[in-house]
Amino acid sequence: MIDLHTHSTASDGTESPGQLVRAGRAAGLTTMAITDHDTTRGWAEATAAAREAGIALVPGIEVSCARGHRSAHLLAYLPDPDAPALVTELERARESREGRLDRMVEKMAADGLPVSVESVRAEVQEGATPGRPHIADALVRAGAVEHRDDAFARWLGDSSPYYVPHYAPDPVRAVEAVRAAGGVPVLAHPYSRTRTGRVDPELVEEMAAAGLAGLEAHHRDHDEDSVRALVGLAGTLGLLVTGSSDYHGTGKHNRLGENTTAPEVLEAIEARATGASVVRP
Ligand code: AMP
Ligand code: ZN
Ligand code: FE
Ligand code: FE
Repeated sequence: MIDLHTHSTASDGTESPGQLVRAGRAAGLTTMAITDHDTTRGWAEATAAAREAGIALVPGIEVSCARGHRSAHLLAYLPDPDAPALVTELERARESREGRLDRMVEKMAADGLPVSVESVRAEVQEGATPGRPHIADALVRAGAVEHRDDAFARWLGDSSPYYVPHYAPDPVRAVEAVRAAGGVPVLAHPYSRTRTGRVDPELVEEMAAAGLAGLEAHHRDHDEDSVRALVGLAGTLGLLVTGSSDYHGTGKHNRLGENTTAPEVLEAIEARATGASVVRP
């Protein structure tokens, strides 16, 4: 059972990289990827935990991308974590995310919501990539809502007046940076149903021409029609098809292994990667 998309406290998951890997083992996964937003910070702890737990680990990243007001998420498997172009893009995104979160919080506080820059920062592990889920966590802690979900539905969605964008590389440029780092780029949840989240097939084509390797078709955010359309698009463009949970611990309802990737697809990903290696027990 192979799950290639999960988050730890190195970004907006609720479990440390070690806990995440042990949860993967307990859920019956044989291989899992750690793909925190815009960081490789969780890799070392996850690697040690994978060796100990006897599970294979694919080091990865979920790279935030944007073109205009449309966003896209690019999974990068097995990139060299020190490759200059990739490191530069990730650092720039993380830095921009900090200022962006402060601005969202200031707008919310001005409207009387029980959050402050300090209370939100307290939800972010040291060195982790900050995101809207951390504002949600501060609101949960303040007793304003019961779950991250409610905070997103009421105040944190893409169409919320409090929404502020952050710097993110163009999707084509991100594909190039991941490839230059020896990584294998796979477009995450391309047809996720949020206002800014749906990726146009024309952009997928452009990304494919730049070296995109696959589409994450099997994902909770896709209904049957979307899965069918994406599998068809992957066939047309000669791309791999993956499936994964996008697990965030207790921060989201996604369960480990709820969507999985075929072993031959993982083999193809591994065969194309030159930046890092799969950690095997
Ligand atoms: P950001 O990276 O700051 O733009 O925030 C996006 C993150 O919020 C993504 O990783 C999503 O997984 C998470 N997210 C989006 N909607 C929800 C929701 N309804 N409940 C919990 N997390 C969510
Ligand atoms: Zn997330
Ligand atoms: Fe995502
Ligand atoms: Fe994700």
